[in-house]
Amino acid sequence: MKVEFYKHNVDAVDIENVNRVLKGIFLTTGEWVDRFEKNLAEYVGAKCGVGVTSCTEALRMALMAYGIGKGDEVITTALSFIATANATEEVGAKPVFVDIEENTGNIDAELIEKAITKKTKAIMPVHLYGQLCDMKKIRAIAQKYKLVVVEDAAHALESKRDGYRTGELGDMTCYSFYATKNITCGEGGALTLNDPKKAEWLKRARLHGMGKGAADRYKLKKFQHQTMEFLGLKANMSNIQAALLIHQLDKVEERLKKREQICQRYEKALRDVKEIEQLEILPGVKSARHLFVIKAPLQKRDEIVLALQQKNVGAVVNYLPIHLMKYYREKYGYKKGDFPKAEDFGARVISLPCYPKLTRKEQDYVVEMVEEVFGK
Ligand SMILES: *Cc1c(COP(=O)(O)O)cnc(C)c1O
Repeated sequence: MKVEFYKHNVDAVDIENVNRVLKGIFLTTGEWVDRFEKNLAEYVGAKCGVGVTSCTEALRMALMAYGIGKGDEVITTALSFIATANATEEVGAKPVFVDIEENTGNIDAELIEKAITKKTKAIMPVHLYGQLCDMKKIRAIAQKYKLVVVEDAAHALESKRDGYRTGELGDMTCYSFYATKNITCGEGGALTLNDPKKAEWLKRARLHGMGKGAADRYKLKKFQHQTMEFLGLKANMSNIQAALLIHQLDKVEERLKKREQICQRYEKALRDVKEIEQLEILPGVKSARHLFVIKAPLQKRDEIVLALQQKNVGAVVNYLPIHLMKYYREKYGYKKGDFPKAEDFGARVISLPCYPKLTRKEQDYVVEMVEEVFGK
């Protein structure tokens, strides 16, 4: 048996939707993107949605929208995918890391205030593995110091906590539709927000800062010159991407239920393996269950991942601490010991296969191999 780390859920309806786009005239940004943006915003309870080519670009554009750049600082977690910090680097600002909660892996909101300086402009929390950060606390800090909150919700489309949902307490919220995310079009991303003016700005920023996109000019049925008002990016979502996503979004809750069942089975089955430490889902949290992660004893993780892979179990590591990446160590002098909890966590985590297509047989095989490799 071979259990893949991830399998996507593209179905016949998705393929038919893409076919319809391919048979039409507009492959690039157009009505399918409009519809997807509307549905996405409605699903998360936001006023506006903006489709882009990746979550990384979404994060970068969010910072640009607030004029954050050279000389500014953005507070974020030391433990995430590098994209979170890279977006800050890309606009010329400095990512300032904060340590994590060891039971969830999320940024420790209690430590944020200490990291604030005169240069701080924004807080960028990441809802790791699908569990929302303490957004009430983060919102309160942002209010007190007049900071912007940009949520990295690459894992957390479906999440809730204490009655609020992803995007509800942030100023802008960024999603990923990368190949292994909960819904995917291979590569893609989006922002949601409640400020229609900023949404209009983002729609220009994703397309060179141009006055009108191709579909808008086409609709006018009258010749009009291209205009450019400011320097934007080239990050507009295409109709092909939107067509792949639109029906997946309809099924997002149904698919979450399947991942929830898998996670609960893993949690129960692995409870008795002495060397495994499980993460916590806090009371009041509805996790999007993006990744199922366990902690191995320090020093043993890499050999365990290797052993699992040799047994054809697609196990991976999400994530190593960002501040210890060569680039960040050399540029800012970050070093081992700066964020001890993120370092311990990053040295121990293992992600196991967890997606709706994972069969019961495959789940049983994963559990069996994990037990064997850890020694029950
Ligand atoms: C996947 C991911 C991103 C980047 O998403 P892309 O769409 O690939 O740019 C950002 N943050 C986190 C936490 C992620 O897991």
